[in-house]
Amino acid sequence: MPAGCVEADVGKKRAIVVGAGFGGSSAAARLARLLPPREWEVVLVDRNNYLLFYPLLPEVAAGTLEPRHVVVPARSFLPRGRFVCAEVTGLDLRRRRIHLATEDEPAWSMPYDHLVLALGSVTRMPPVPGLREHGFELKTIADAASLRDHGISLLERASIAKDPELRRELLRVVVVGANFTGVELAGEYQDFLRDACRAYPELDPDEVDVVVVEARSRILPALPESLADYAKAHLERRGLRFATERTVVRVGRRGAELSDGTWLASRTVAWCAGIAPNPLIGGCDDLPTNEMGYIRTHPDLRVEGYDDVWAIGDSAFVPGEDGQGYPATAQVASRQGEHVARNIARAVTGRSLAPFSFRSRGALAALGCRTAVAEVFGLRIAGFPAWFLYRTVYLLKVPTLGRKLSIVTDWTVDLFAKQMPVQLGLHRRSSEQNGAVRQDEVRL
Ligand SMILES: Cc1cc2nc3c(=O)[nH]c(=O)nc-3n(C[C@H](O)[C@H](O)[C@H](O)COP(=O)(O)OP(=O)(O)OC[C@H]3O[C@@H](n4cnc5c(N)ncnc54)[C@H](O)[C@@H]3O)c2cc1C
Repeated sequence: MPAGCVEADVGKKRAIVVGAGFGGSSAAARLARLLPPREWEVVLVDRNNYLLFYPLLPEVAAGTLEPRHVVVPARSFLPRGRFVCAEVTGLDLRRRRIHLATEDEPAWSMPYDHLVLALGSVTRMPPVPGLREHGFELKTIADAASLRDHGISLLERASIAKDPELRRELLRVVVVGANFTGVELAGEYQDFLRDACRAYPELDPDEVDVVVVEARSRILPALPESLADYAKAHLERRGLRFATERTVVRVGRRGAELSDGTWLASRTVAWCAGIAPNPLIGGCDDLPTNEMGYIRTHPDLRVEGYDDVWAIGDSAFVPGEDGQGYPATAQVASRQGEHVARNIARAVTGRSLAPFSFRSRGALAALGCRTAVAEVFGLRIAGFPAWFLYRTVYLLKVPTLGRKLSIVTDWTVDLFAKQMPVQLGLHRRSSEQNGAVRQDEVRL
């Protein structure tokens, strides 16, 4: 075997799936069942050795769920395949190889016979001055854990702040973007801060001020207007404020400026406004992309121009029957993962491929305080029944019994016990301590 390469087991062909998220894990698990193990090796590659269950990330930021309970080991999807924990640094589609790097082996490669790209997306970070230095994201487990820690740090500091302006600034949270992630984070985070306030006699929960900034005129655009209106009215009754038809034009260490000139003094600006393509796609000239930078595929999920490269999930633009792409959701990615596996099994046995089609079963958004909104099979539900449905649906969807039990335990404890505002030292420290704005490395 040449140095720097990993060849497949002798006599075997190899199917590589890049990305162990919603799309990649279901593709790899199904491929390992469909391809004969004597002829095929299935390899799943990811920089992290887990699937992150994103829909529950706002609950980690709010301290309801423990960080470890919303991740599922990637190896659990592949009892018969192989998992490789490495960064994919490049794709050589002409030579049918992927390039990888780990801390110990900075440059090596793996050949493939079929390649599935399930790379996901990254947070869209427009060139708003100060955003990268001072904004928070909600995309990784470390983001969520640091947001929780940061929230507790704010309460500690506010409880001893003598200046009322400073106290207001510390207790104000600005969430940018009112789609699912932004609304869920705003609702859950407000609930968390207000609940945690009870441990601080100096603080009044009503001082917590969460402001959601949204460029459009309405929130939750993927839901029917009546449900979005219900969500907005419910959150406003709880004291959340909405600044619609406005954008954030500048972010600083001590706040954010809106497009109408309003300055919101705050130590927490959470950016939840859209997604962008994984940078690996732009770095590969041989990948066809649409005008937004997502990988163009045929309806059967083959990447345009290739018979052995496939793309699914957030990283792909797959045309539906109407020529439009599918929404970037976990539901779509998982279903495409299963479909791509079936199509690869068809391709290797010379059968014709089937186009992917999908009809959404519904959408759910949790609002905190045991309330949610949902549209399921055309039925619209709001309030406590929707929240109960939300938890039931996600509990059923979380893979493995161990994780389901951990989550039920966390939720049960949350129902009966108060928030315990303890800091783990994962939050960002700013110039107050060292004279320069910097972000501490967050490691779990
Ligand atoms: C906070 C939040 C809440 C959400 N809530 C919902 C919800 O309630 N319902 C819903 O349907 N959808 C929700 N989504 C969207 C949903 O999570 C995504 O649409 C879904 O994860 C897409 O699946 P995927 O397989 O395409 O990508 P992902 O699940 O993101 O997986 C991509 C994988 O690729 C890996 N990877 C990327 N680049 C590399 C590389 N260079 N080398 C190695 N590995 C790499 C990543 O580590 C990751 O594991 C939410 C998203 C977020 C961020």
